[in-house]
Amino acid sequence: MLHITGVAASAGLTIGRVKRIKRASGGLTRVVLDSVREKALFEAAVLLAKDELLELEERASAQDKDIFLFQRVMLDDKGLREEISQAIAGGMGGAAAVEHAADIYMQRIRSIDNEYLRERAADVQDACMRIVSILDGRPRDVLLLKEPSIIAADEIYPSDIVSVDKGMILGIITATGSVQGHAAIISRTMGIPAIVQAGGAFLEECDGQTVALDGFAGEAFFCPDEPTKTRFLHRIAQLERHEKKLQSLKDTPCITPDGQTVQLMANCSCPEDIEQAIAKGADGVGLLRSEFMLMNGRIPSEQQQYQFYLRCLKAANGKPVTVRTFDIGADKEVEGISLKEDNPALGLRGIRLCLSRRDLLEPQLAALLRAALHGPLKIMFPMIATEQEFSVALAVLDEVKQQLNEKGIAFAQNVPVGTMIETPAAALLADRIAPLCDFFSIGTNDLTQYTHAADRVNPLVADYYPQYSEAVHKLIEMTVDAAQKNGISVSVCGETAATPELARRYVGMGIHTLSMAAVSLLEVKELLMEPPQKTTERN
Ligand code: PEP
Ligand code: MG
Repeated sequence: MLHITGVAASAGLTIGRVKRIKRASGGLTRVVLDSVREKALFEAAVLLAKDELLELEERASAQDKDIFLFQRVMLDDKGLREEISQAIAGGMGGAAAVEHAADIYMQRIRSIDNEYLRERAADVQDACMRIVSILDGRPRDVLLLKEPSIIAADEIYPSDIVSVDKGMILGIITATGSVQGHAAIISRTMGIPAIVQAGGAFLEECDGQTVALDGFAGEAFFCPDEPTKTRFLHRIAQLERHEKKLQSLKDTPCITPDGQTVQLMANCSCPEDIEQAIAKGADGVGLLRSEFMLMNGRIPSEQQQYQFYLRCLKAANGKPVTVRTFDIGADKEVEGISLKEDNPALGLRGIRLCLSRRDLLEPQLAALLRAALHGPLKIMFPMIATEQEFSVALAVLDEVKQQLNEKGIAFAQNVPVGTMIETPAAALLADRIAPLCDFFSIGTNDLTQYTHAADRVNPLVADYYPQYSEAVHKLIEMTVDAAQKNGISVSVCGETAATPELARRYVGMGIHTLSMAAVSLLEVKELLMEPPQKTTERN
């Protein structure tokens, strides 16, 4: 039995046979044509690759589609193309030129002082290998699995996972890779246990061996002995029983042991997300991050947005949908709309950007008001800091209503309007904002970032961004107090809503609506319905 350890990248346990993935390497020998014809072949390959990536985008789950969109956009990257053109002009064949340019480009990305961008090197490699394979006439579907298998390789790419039928990949072990790489992200979405950075020593012998993989601990046992196998099978059965129990809670209302009813809502970005959340028993959508509609850089028209919101309402099947107006800026950069600022988290972000770009805000509000005729839709403004800002946003909403009236277009007159409480100023002024609005939704992700002055996506200050903060807690108390005194509802929609101890604490403070990623809904429901002492024992 060989025991290896790596980094846990996707939770879960599995036992199965290993299929080692070997990449074809080295160009096929062929005569290099003149540079004009090599360039033409390359362009044709790019077109075909984009078609294939579009297909993968369609196969991917809603959360992972952007990964393939990124790869398609990457193929049009000026710097990369320039590098390829120069190599072809210098006498290289198309495939060799792409490999050469990809190497240079990846080195450049890996040397950037930004972890997120460094993780994208694997996507560049994935997209470029596709072009090389097309030019070499190789099949792109590298994972030709005959049976459900645990795949092992130096590195696994997003397209590897998505191109294979669901259920065929039981687990993933890679010698390199990273937890924040897109392949790991997809494996988490799909619930495939995965270990990355396991070192290359195991690879040579592993093909065809049985392996017991623990994606919680980041370890694997090749050719496991009987006691190890039995231990794994026992834990797998336990997990399955727990999953079954969670599923049985799907349609049960969430009532705490002391009789409080809690609404468990989902954070979503599109109708497909909403469908999945409703299937997991969500009581509605507490936060629709509408800016995800813009991530491909195109601004949908009012009519397109109207259709989108109708689809969202339909997916929610009569349950409420709270749509947050575009929150662009900071970590949510949108090509062509975001500004280049030195400090974007403190810049023209969220409602500030939208108030300076009425061409973005007005069509969105018009589409929302019209869609609200067809279901329980609510409107929410992001990044509000003061009651004056909220009033300005409300005034724009009134203007849009006026315009619709003048055009004789039907819309819902009494759509509830609320605000995110995600800046310390908004929490401190909650008693002044509350009389103006219908609900508060506390965004603890940003509230923590701004309270502790620690960029939420900067790994260098991760230790300064606490999971639990007394300071944030005080701001939440002020917010709840203001909401209660003014008789408006208050929810939490930041990540902390799904943190077991905090979810319980929020309910204890009188917050009866929590909104979170759909994957966490049933776990949180189970926890809130259990008597507290039992939970402490289990954790
Ligand atoms: C938040 O800030 O907590 C929040 C839910 O908004 P986002 O994560 O989209 O900024
Ligand atoms: Mg936020």
